[in-house]
Parts: sequence; C-alpha cells; structure tokens
Amino acid sequence: MNSAHNVDLTSFNTLALPGKAAAYQKITAAGQLTAPELVGQRRFILGGGSNLVLTGDFAGLVLHMAIPGKRLLKEDAEAFYIEAGAGENWHDFVQWTLQQGWPGLENLSLIPGTVGAAPIQNIGAYGLEVGECFHSLTAWDFEKQAFFPVDRGNCRFGYRDSVFKQEGWHLSGRMAITSVVFRLPKAWIPNLRYADVNQELAAQKIATPTPQDVAKAIIAVRQRKLPNPAIIPNTGSFFHNPVVEAAQAEALAADFPNLPRYAQPDGRVKLAAGWLIEQAGWKGKNLGPVGMYEKQALVLVNRGGATGDDVKRTMAAVQADIRARFGVELSPEPIFL
Ligand code: NAP
Repeated sequence: MNSAHNVDLTSFNTLALPGKAAAYQKITAAGQLTAPELVGQRRFILGGGSNLVLTGDFAGLVLHMAIPGKRLLKEDAEAFYIEAGAGENWHDFVQWTLQQGWPGLENLSLIPGTVGAAPIQNIGAYGLEVGECFHSLTAWDFEKQAFFPVDRGNCRFGYRDSVFKQEGWHLSGRMAITSVVFRLPKAWIPNLRYADVNQELAAQKIATPTPQDVAKAIIAVRQRKLPNPAIIPNTGSFFHNPVVEAAQAEALAADFPNLPRYAQPDGRVKLAAGWLIEQAGWKGKNLGPVGMYEKQALVLVNRGGATGDDVKRTMAAVQADIRARFGVELSPEPIFL
C-alpha cells in the first residue's frame, strides 16, 4: 500500500480544525485492510469526520474509509435487508433506500457522516436511532487479523453510544467497520413523535405523509435550524442531552418552570442540553473563534481559524456555566483525537 505522508486533515473534519496525519491511506475495498504493514501501527479510522474534534497533529496512520456499495441483500415476509459499504455517504444512502421503496430511515435524513460510522455513534434524530433499524455489520479486527460479524444483540446500543465506543475499539483503531446491514420492516408507520416534524407537515398541509414527505419535512427543519458544515464548520449536536434523576429534574423545574423534560423508561429524566445552554446565555455567543450557533445553541461552530484548543476552551466554559447554574454535567458527543 502506498500511504501518503504529512497529510493535512483540515478538509477531512467538519469542524475544519487543523492537524496533520503522519500517514494517510484511503480505503476503497475491505481487502486493503488485510495488508501486513498495517499491523503494529498507531491507527485512526476516519469516516466523514463529522463527529470528531481534531486536537492537533496525529502521529499515526489515518485510514479513511471510502468503501462503496449498496444493495438489497435479501427480503422476507416482514422486512428488506439492505447492505451498504462503510464509506457510503449516510444521507445519500438514506435517500436511495427511499427511492427504492424501502422506508424506515427517513427520520435520519441529512445527518452528516458515513454508513460505517452510523452504528458507532448510534446516530439518532427525531425519535429514531439507527440501532432500531440495524441488523448486523462486518468489521476487520487488526489484532486478530480477521473479519468478524457483529449482530444487533452484541452492539450494546445506547443513547448515541455503542459497544464500539464503550470498549474503545473505534478510538484505538482496533477494528474498522467495512459494511453494515439494515433491516427495514415492510410495515411502515410514520414516526412523527417530534413536534418540529409534525409542525412542518402541518405547514405543508400533509395529513397522511409518505416516507418521502417525512424525509422532506426533516430536511427542511434541519436546513432551517442547523448550519451547513460546508459553510459554517460544526459537528452537529456538540453535547449529549443529560439524563438526570427524577428528583433533580423536579427540583430544577421548581426553579425553571419552562425546563423541557422527557421521562425515560428507567424512571430518569432527559433534559434538553440546547435549552440549558441557551438559558445560560450561550446562544450566538463566541469565545474567540468558537461559539454556540445562533439558531441552535447545542451546535458548537468554528467561526474561522479555530484550533482544537479553541474548541476545548469554549467547551469547558459552557460546561462550567451549566454546572454553576443548573448543577448538571454536559458531556461532549464527538470524539477527541
Ligand atoms: P429540539 O426539537 O429543539 O428538542 C430539543 C431536545 O429535546 C432534543 O435534543 C430531543 O432529544 C428532545 N426532544 C424533543 N422532542 C422530544 C420528544 N417528543 N421525545 C423525546 N425527546 C424529545 O431538538 P433539535 O436540536 O432541533 O434536534 C432535533 C433532533 O435531531 C433531535 O432528535 C436531535 O438529537 C437530532 N440531532 C442529532 C444530531 C446528531 O446526531 N449529532 C445533530 C443534530 C440534531 P434527542 O436529542 O434525544 O432526540
């Protein structure tokens, strides 16, 4: 394999943070991962770079996953099973499934990133998490030098979380996901739990939406509220929504009657990080070249020329304010390299 050296990663991360990779290799076929020279190297597996805070140069090998391909693997009475290469663009893949008449992923339209990264973060939006439509994946284990399958039961999907993050396999470069299979049930019910989606459909006077209608509504809402990373560099939601004990949520609601609260199956309560950040005065506020977006306070943006240190500074300032004001800890969604 011919790796490139000293490669600028600014255009490979959607926050447009500067940093160089000592070595860089684009992976367009799973078989490339079996090359013996990859063993023993410090590695980072890069997808769309849309959930990444680059804190500086990386003294290892970046493997940029660009494996293409998408196909109907099989179908049975209940569902379609669709397989896609890890390097496929997530949004394009979702729109393609809809065009083929295989709905189910429409609520995840316009999420940046790749198919291979989707299960790592268990990407979610508008009441759907990718884990709900996930069937299995194939990954390459650099230590065992073997491809291995992972089915849904072994992914330990959680809120923007999976076994790949929990065990550190992704960040350590231990394994690379090469393809993913989704199970899309034939019985389709629109998932309209979120107010924004309902309001958009109502504004368009659509009472019984098709999957494409739902996708279009979600695309419209996202385009209105979220910055396009190609224009204003960002990683989407920057903080997890904190989940707190019911008693803490009650106590906070006594002080802040408008506090949005969403009861969780385990009895705890999810708070909206964006609301807390807005209340703390951070919506549209900058600290140096890094700020919180004016239309959606949960999105941290690079106003131009920011470094990883600038991001860490703004992140810490926001976390400190939320801690002081609400007694709540905010944890970042993206991974730090
Ligand atoms: P929003 O509608 O302003 O709502 C704020 C928060 O309240 C959301 O984060 C959401 O939690 C929660 N929420 C709203 N309605 C809810 C309901 N009916 N049941 C349970 N929880 C509810 O949110 P937004 O910032 O515009 O984002 C809309 C959706 O896109 C959210 O699901 C958000 O997570 C998702 N999104 C995801 C990413 C990402 O994956 N990085 C980036 C941008 C937006 P949840 O976040 O738990 O859904």
